[in-house]
Amino acid sequence: MRAMILKGPRQLLQAADIPAPRPEATQVLVKVAACAVCRTDLHVVDGELPGPKLPLVPGHEIVGVIVEKGTGVQHFNTGDRVGIPWLGWTCGKCEFCRSGRENLCHQAKFTGYTLDGGYAEFAVADERFCFPIAQNYSDAEAAPLLCAGLIGYRSLAKTGNAKRLGIYGFGAAAHIVAQVAKFQGREVYAFTRRGDSQAQEFAKSLGVVWANDSETQPPVPLDAAIIFAPVGSLVPLALKAVAKGGTVVCGGIHMSDLPSFPYDLLWQERTLCSVANLTRRDGEEFFALAQKVPVRTTIQTFPLAEANAVLSRLRNGQIHGAAVLVP
Ligand SMILES: [Zn+2]
Ligand SMILES: [Zn+2]
Repeated sequence: MRAMILKGPRQLLQAADIPAPRPEATQVLVKVAACAVCRTDLHVVDGELPGPKLPLVPGHEIVGVIVEKGTGVQHFNTGDRVGIPWLGWTCGKCEFCRSGRENLCHQAKFTGYTLDGGYAEFAVADERFCFPIAQNYSDAEAAPLLCAGLIGYRSLAKTGNAKRLGIYGFGAAAHIVAQVAKFQGREVYAFTRRGDSQAQEFAKSLGVVWANDSETQPPVPLDAAIIFAPVGSLVPLALKAVAKGGTVVCGGIHMSDLPSFPYDLLWQERTLCSVANLTRRDGEEFFALAQKVPVRTTIQTFPLAEANAVLSRLRNGQIHGAAVLVP
């Protein structure tokens, strides 16, 4: 099969003739129809996350059709369309798994990081971590829901019932979260890179009430903010933008170092937290909600072989909505 493979930092190599993976007992073999490109892929390729499997097929927002299944597969059949997310396997036994926090499992395995992912024609996945994909999405439209949607949803849930919600970094996750937040009756304030009027217009087209540069203070104090951009210096800015008792959620897996800042920014019961991975329950809740909104994704599709170029466009902020690779 054809695949894009990471063997060392920074560059994916194109392979045309590697054997397709074989499904083990509880695994399905999926013919990949689309795989969205996440900022986490960029962190993996750039060597910013420790201990990736090498060589590695990246990609953890996979949509495809099951073409073969292991002997222990119970919930899906060949011909079913499924989504494969970042969380690829958990132990089911540790204190986190047993307390509804499998996202923090000590032994968790992650698609496109410690397991091979979807920058390929075929991928295997444990069926217990796959999601069915609703009919009303095309393959490429559904792909960004698998991480931008899921992690975005978990980040949004961390803000409780915040009415005025700031979002820093208006990319794939933000464009989904903004739609869900608006549906829930929240006001969304979008913050982008300085002078990125295209991203600000895009945010406004999705119904945000205000869009401006990250350094600009919003017109009113916010109840919560989510930071999707991997930029540590946004943390004090976001803390400054939230009212007393407000929450700032860091939604990314990696961030540049946080600058030191006066305690005053955290004082008055402001909360700063991060979001790690997802649980299967997040997935069930999010996909049900996405149907009700209904969430529409804005995508740009590219051939699989262009993965390196797509990653550098993402690095430079040149992707509008979500980039999706199509084998
Ligand atoms: Zn992701
Ligand atoms: Zn566990």
